Amino acid sequence: MSMRYSLSLTAIPPEDEALRAPVRAFLADAMREVPAHVRAKSWSGYDAAFSRALGQQGWLGLTLPQSYGGGGRSAFARYVLAEELLNFGAPVGSHWIADRQSGPLILKYGTEAQKRFYLPPICRGESFFCIGMSEPNAGSDLASVKTRATRTDAGWTLNGQKIWTTNAHGCHYMIALVRTSGEAQDRQKGLSQIIVDLSLPGVTVRPITDLSGDSHFCEVFFDDVKLGADALIGGEGKGWEQVTAELAFERSGPERLYSSIVLFDEWLAFVRTEAGHTAAAVRLAGRIFAQLAPLRAMSIAVTEKLAAGQTPVVEAALVKDLGTGVEQLIPAVIADDLFSREVQGVPLELLQTLNYVTQVAPSFSLRGGTRDILRGMIARGLGLR
Ligand SMILES: Cc1cc2nc3c(=O)[nH]c(=O)nc-3n(C[C@H](O)[C@H](O)[C@H](O)COP(=O)(O)OP(=O)(O)OC[C@H]3O[C@@H](n4cnc5c(N)ncnc54)[C@H](O)[C@@H]3O)c2cc1C
Repeated sequence: MSMRYSLSLTAIPPEDEALRAPVRAFLADAMREVPAHVRAKSWSGYDAAFSRALGQQGWLGLTLPQSYGGGGRSAFARYVLAEELLNFGAPVGSHWIADRQSGPLILKYGTEAQKRFYLPPICRGESFFCIGMSEPNAGSDLASVKTRATRTDAGWTLNGQKIWTTNAHGCHYMIALVRTSGEAQDRQKGLSQIIVDLSLPGVTVRPITDLSGDSHFCEVFFDDVKLGADALIGGEGKGWEQVTAELAFERSGPERLYSSIVLFDEWLAFVRTEAGHTAAAVRLAGRIFAQLAPLRAMSIAVTEKLAAGQTPVVEAALVKDLGTGVEQLIPAVIADDLFSREVQGVPLELLQTLNYVTQVAPSFSLRGGTRDILRGMIARGLGLR
């Protein structure tokens, strides 16, 4: 069926929308003293204590069953929570991956023992996960991963290297896509997912510094790392299928629209003042908002599919491609606005926030799969390839 009919306008159910008020009250208090240029980091910001505080509120693992420590709520409730966390620029990076995709992945493919072991600490904000997909020569071409787990009598021995692993230096576990049989030319065949305890001997994590001076992603090396048989998650050789399902969670959420939202709000606050108000700025605010609103509706429509247990991979790619486009547009047009008029008194905090977001914005359309790769998937979904 054509993708044209794939997404339908969906309202967040009232019982899930009701979560917004308590979350806002909590965040208004927790984020009161944090300046905008720090809040702009949002889901790149790492704060383990903040994650634990959310866990104590019962706001981690919201969609996981209560029997594993989760909230037993719907994907829409998690959407509301995520949207507010991003709006406030909360430092959610430490638990973000575990909450968004590792927890749901373990719930879907894990054994009962794996669920009992990994899910409760995720829900308490005590166990953080990272994504081990990319390698030096396997980014867009993910099927060519070379990191290998070899079967032993006791379990697995792991050798290889991952790169660009967000927060590996602050995480307890990595879910890695590795080769368990065949060779690189076998592509998708012979790939599996394994859970790696990053504190094990043979694991070396080296942070990489980015343009803004932050070190939020890492190189991770595996030298004869000994893993138990229970490190395998899901089926042996089923890694590609599992990763594809995981990417639908990774690509469709509000974090693919709101990476520049703190900057947008800070600029709007200036435009509302007498010094900052111009007709051109008001038109620009309308232009940005007119793009964000339908994207949000699309993202919620994808959430409905996830809630129904579907795997809307192509729709998620569409949301991410369009969403990151707006995220990148925001710092560019705000810079044009501020520097094209003879305005005095632009708040320093606004300029600092603009500076930070401008530096990191190029990465928005790289992380989670590049624009070119997503467009190839969308073209295929439209029957054009
Ligand atoms: C901030 C950030 C965080 C990240 N976090 C993680 C993480 O936690 N875990 C993880 O595993 N990875 C992570 N990544 C890696 C990310 O997934 C890869 O950078 C991305 O998939 C691209 O791979 P690459 O860097 O090897 O670029 P390449 O694949 O070498 O691509 C280089 C360029 O060529 C283009 N290109 C490549 N193939 C094609 C094609 N077939 N058709 C058209 N154009 C093509 C690409 O679009 C890109 O513009 C992160 C990246 C960033 C920037």
